[in-house]
Amino acid sequence: MAISEEQKALLLNSIRNVPNFPKEGVQFKDITTLAGNAKAFKTVIDHFADRYKDAKIDFVVGAESRGFIFGAPLAIALGVGFAPIRKPGKLPYTTASEKYSLEYGFDEVQIHIDAFSAIKNARALFIDDLIATGGTAEASIRLIERVGAKCVEAAFVINLFDLKGAEKIKKLTNFYSILDMEGD
Ligand code: AMP
Repeated sequence: MAISEEQKALLLNSIRNVPNFPKEGVQFKDITTLAGNAKAFKTVIDHFADRYKDAKIDFVVGAESRGFIFGAPLAIALGVGFAPIRKPGKLPYTTASEKYSLEYGFDEVQIHIDAFSAIKNARALFIDDLIATGGTAEASIRLIERVGAKCVEAAFVINLFDLKGAEKIKKLTNFYSILDMEGD
């Protein structure tokens, strides 16, 4: 079911904007205030759970660290497993890695090579709190597919639409976001 205007307003009002964090010029969308609002948090999880209930998802995959906040409860709601994507050096077993470029330098994400081995041709749903340039999500989707699952959709609570991350993701998989917000 589509999100109602009333639900949208609840979510928008529960997200705190923190100017100049973590550096000058960034408008940081703080979702801890959404997660701390029981009604808003449940609205997000219920909405995603309803959207994916018949999508034959085998795993929810969340990106460190705010993707875990939404991904883990969604996995429970869908009755499927959860797999974390993390920054280098955090996952203890053998990993696959993807590097992606930032404005200055690069970043890297990792996943356990056997994250989906329990289910052949597993169908994965990628979740993160927010998409900006799309670099994190793009690298994460590549990782998911490299270790043997199909990423059937990438879903976000917030899309900073003017940063055009969605366009990158649509070349790889389906794209969905609950809220569109301006990045500046
Ligand atoms: P990107 O790779 O540029 O799409 O950035 C997405 C990742 O960085 C997500 O994991 C977000 O949690 C975080 N992020 C980027 N920009 C913001 C922002 N303005 N507010 C909050 N989180 C952000």
